[in-house]
Amino acid sequence: MAKATRMTRQRRLILEILRSTDIHPTADWIYHQARKHIPDISLGTVYRNLNQLKQAGEIMELNYGSTFSRYDGNPCNHYHFVCDACGRVFDVEMPVLSGIEEEAARLSGMKVTRHRLEFYGYCRECQKSREEPKTQG
Ligand code: ZN
Ligand code: MN
Repeated sequence: MAKATRMTRQRRLILEILRSTDIHPTADWIYHQARKHIPDISLGTVYRNLNQLKQAGEIMELNYGSTFSRYDGNPCNHYHFVCDACGRVFDVEMPVLSGIEEEAARLSGMKVTRHRLEFYGYCRECQKSREEPKTQG
């Protein structure tokens, strides 16, 4: 396979994998899915393609500091909920707040180009397991 074709195929596969899930996966998860289709793909290639897709505005990288980045196939701004117990990331179906970038710019004198908003707490499943702790064994 020609090099350019192979690169295109890899990038398309990674984008398809990302767009087919709502779990906001890590690069490692994407890598394991990609290997089912392209067995000799490397983790480095996955990272490289994720970066290129990010630069092209096709996907979003969600960076949570101490943990691995997660990736989102939806590049339009939307809000997320991060579970403090299990670490899963969920979409929050609410409209993106309008006017806050202008307000931040007005108050700070900065040129604001975007904003990001995360909610934290316990997801529905983790709330349940906290209320009724599973008996061990
Ligand atoms: Zn949870
Ligand atoms: Mn999302």
